[in-house]
Amino acid sequence: MNIIGFPRIGEKRELKKALESYWAAAKDGGDTSEKEHKLQELLKVAKDLRKLHWSYQKNLENVVVNDFSFYDNMLDLSYALGVIPARFNDLKGLDLYFAMARGSKSGVACEMTKWFNTNYHYVVPELRKDLQYHINAQKIVDEYKEALSLGYNPKISLIGIFTYLGLSKTSDNSKKSDVFPNLKNAYFKLLESLVSTLGKDILIEFHEPIFVKGRDEFFSHIKEVYDSIAKLGIKSIVTTYFESSNEATEILVNSDIVGLGLDFVHGVDNLNENSLKAIANSGKKLYAGLIDGRNIWVANLDSKLNILDKISIIVPKDLIHISSSCSLLHVPFSKDSESKMNKEILSWLSFAREKIGELELLESIFRNGVIDSNKDAYNANKSVNDNRKKSEKIHDNAVQSRIANLKITTRKEPFKERIKVQRKALGYPDLATTTIGSFPQTPELRALRQKFKKGEIDSKAYESGIESYIKDCVAFQEEIGLDVLVHGEPERNDMVEYFGEQLKGFVFSQNGWVQSYGSRCVKPPIIFGDTSRPKAMTVRWITFAQSLTKKIMKGMLTGPVTILNWSFVRDDLARKDVCKQLSLCIADEISDLQDAGIKIIQVDEAAFKEGYPLRESKVKEYESWALECFKISSSVAKIETQIHTHMCYSEFNDIIKTIEAMDADVISIETARSGNELLKIFKKVGYANEVGPGVYDIHSPRIPSVDEIYKQIKLLLEVLPKSQLWINPDCGLKTRKWEEVKPSLKNMVDAVLKVRIEG
Ligand code: GLN
Ligand code: ZN
Repeated sequence: MNIIGFPRIGEKRELKKALESYWAAAKDGGDTSEKEHKLQELLKVAKDLRKLHWSYQKNLENVVVNDFSFYDNMLDLSYALGVIPARFNDLKGLDLYFAMARGSKSGVACEMTKWFNTNYHYVVPELRKDLQYHINAQKIVDEYKEALSLGYNPKISLIGIFTYLGLSKTSDNSKKSDVFPNLKNAYFKLLESLVSTLGKDILIEFHEPIFVKGRDEFFSHIKEVYDSIAKLGIKSIVTTYFESSNEATEILVNSDIVGLGLDFVHGVDNLNENSLKAIANSGKKLYAGLIDGRNIWVANLDSKLNILDKISIIVPKDLIHISSSCSLLHVPFSKDSESKMNKEILSWLSFAREKIGELELLESIFRNGVIDSNKDAYNANKSVNDNRKKSEKIHDNAVQSRIANLKITTRKEPFKERIKVQRKALGYPDLATTTIGSFPQTPELRALRQKFKKGEIDSKAYESGIESYIKDCVAFQEEIGLDVLVHGEPERNDMVEYFGEQLKGFVFSQNGWVQSYGSRCVKPPIIFGDTSRPKAMTVRWITFAQSLTKKIMKGMLTGPVTILNWSFVRDDLARKDVCKQLSLCIADEISDLQDAGIKIIQVDEAAFKEGYPLRESKVKEYESWALECFKISSSVAKIETQIHTHMCYSEFNDIIKTIEAMDADVISIETARSGNELLKIFKKVGYANEVGPGVYDIHSPRIPSVDEIYKQIKLLLEVLPKSQLWINPDCGLKTRKWEEVKPSLKNMVDAVLKVRIEG
């Protein structure tokens, strides 16, 4: 039995803290002895974490080496291969490594993007034809020796070349096939260097999740690459996850790898009889991913044994190695420190450490049946699963019957009619100016919320603090002359958590941190049961804000699909059904807001795109229910209530038809960094509803000038008419400072005035 990787951030986020204090000391001009001191601390923390995490793996076949990282494993591989962007040529060592991740005086950071359909972000490699690769295998070698010296049997975890290439970009516009030969050369040099220092017969697990996407232009190289790796004397396991990978399996069974890792949790098609037969005939080991590395529920051992039965009818038992479905990186460390959570719900959860225990138990039952030594644990597992199934906490008849009787899921009138009524009722001009919702989250604001949470101040003090922030926000927006105002979201720490905390069916961990990127961790809400909304969640603040102004106050909600995609979701109900329940919660809120006199309501779907399946063949199904859920929420809006949505990306080419079908009256999107290029798709498909393409990038502290925004608006007007356009920043402003936000928004309004004057 095996895992594919363990979370590295530490039970108490020790790595995060050590990294951040090192970065603070290493900041330009930092005292060098302080920097050295913090570096030593960081190295020690890292070493201690590895040692501790390996100790949990002592009963497994191997401990995983090189799953540790100071930032990200894709970045580690770039560094090991010498895939260094030219702008960082003056740097070396950790300074170089962290500059690539975070930017430095030498240049901007490398791009970061999501690792498949997870919320983990990797650093995108920048390949180019003239790149001079330099191999540096030190990190892998050191960690390998470290594990050996502790008496463990190490397995090196390494990102496979196809996944590395597939997730990279080229900075010189060359085709991937043009950079492949040199990259392959370098990758093999790295492997050779591992063999020459660590000896032949080292075991390497190559992560190739890219294979789950199906055939691509590089599939014809798979056999040749992995055969050559075997020739170096390396024993290789090729592992795929997050979906099934039957096409790659077909090829890999004929290559010289020793084992194949497949995900049987998220890739049910891996159970395909032909694939299993091919594996059995090849005599290769099958690393069967059965313990879910993506979710946090106690495994149902009976159902896992069922799958193992199916597999072992075809694949001989001694070839089957039970494994986690993917790295445990995507789940929190351990539930040991959850002292506040409801005990019953807590008993249903399994984080990384507990999952290793489940692997051991499953292995024992699979090999020996239920015997004295595993009987109690097996029964305990059974009863946890039974309890959960029957628990009253999960089932809510009222919610279920509402879902069963759900009928109208579309707005009554078509957009053409709605917009006439809305334009009349709301009276906003062409190129109406607005923002995406949040205003700066100041340290004072965070302190206020913290104090209230801890009970250090009463609700009166808290509420007056929030009210005073809202007052300032409204006053500022009126002063600069924005057309549609927002309350600024001062009461929210996070756009999902804020709603989850007020909905039934959600629970929050105290310490369930999951690495998102680098030192940044998130604590996803846990949806454990039927969800409903006991009472209004935002009306109090939005109506207060509206009472301060004659202008239109836009109400802010997070959409059902985004709430779903940023949470750990119950696994006893289909995601689409969980999402449907969430969409009713949001529908209820929209209904209350409009009854309270709010005329524009924005339903943010920042994570709509994240839920897209990895396999093309499954996209349609996702699109259809995600779309339906958004519409369940928005269809309660009356004809005169204007529904906005916001999405944090710019690439709409693939999904434009779905966006159109969502039928939001106004959609705001991220386009500032791409001029008007990305807007063109809206024109091309004849998108008729209104659009607010971001006119400046909020991710940087830079203040855009009037002229710059003016030009940007002119560009937009080349694509869509002014009657269809709204003017707003790219995204919410909560990460910015007031001294950046104020002049930026003022310039935005002035730029619009300039365009309007010209007519
Ligand atoms: N309304 C949210 C905000 O302004 C939207 C955030 C987001 O799209 N990520 O912060
Ligand atoms: Zn956004």
